[in-house]
Amino acid sequence: MTTFEQMGLSKAVLQILRGQGITNPTPVQEKAIPELLAGEDVIVQAQTGTGKTLAFLLPIMEKIRPDRPDAQALIITPTRELAIQITAEARKLAAAREGLSVLAAYGGQDVERQLRKLKNGAQLVIGTPGRLLDHLRRGSLTLGAVRLLVLDEADQMLHMGFLAEVEEIIRLVPRSRQTMLFSATMPDNVKRLAKAYMQQPRDIRIAETSR
Ligand code: ADP
Ligand code: MG
Repeated sequence: MTTFEQMGLSKAVLQILRGQGITNPTPVQEKAIPELLAGEDVIVQAQTGTGKTLAFLLPIMEKIRPDRPDAQALIITPTRELAIQITAEARKLAAAREGLSVLAAYGGQDVERQLRKLKNGAQLVIGTPGRLLDHLRRGSLTLGAVRLLVLDEADQMLHMGFLAEVEEIIRLVPRSRQTMLFSATMPDNVKRLAKAYMQQPRDIRIAETSR
């Protein structure tokens, strides 16, 4: 097994993981993190509960530049609940990167508060398609500096009818980005999305039984 240390994660991040009792990578993390640190696009298929969130958050933590104010990483996720969960995990890890600000953009939460936070600069933005588009249309969020794009729970997102919204958002992210797609299943519409918006992605598939 490759350990988190061997993957080259920074000391401060490792310390935070240890504090949470997280010492060894799950299979999906072991496969995805090195590819992501190397700059590859990845498509990860693994069932719920296999640790996909840290598989994308840990490389993002290493790659993001807290000294620059613009949004550099964007995570699109289908539901408010998932956005809240990912944001909580990201904020814990962000303690390892001084000056790193995490913004959650989902419906039902005070848009004015989100706007103030965006004005102060959030390098990592986590949101649901509808609210993200709302910010993009208001001009309160711009994606011109985004280099890291995550499509989380892609099958669920398309199943909920978000394809058009997701595509509209992706098209605003510079092509030079690194794109990561995570999904429990790989129906044709998810494959098509990956084919249209990813560059020579590495396919990572974790068998059903492997946890
Ligand atoms: P998924 O997105 O694949 O459904 P999550 O990323 O939400 O799964 O992770 C499921 C649970 O596993 C979370 O409670 C998370 O804290 C825990 N977890 C993730 N990675 C590890 C790890 N390396 N060691 C122990 N627990 C982990
Ligand atoms: Mg998940």
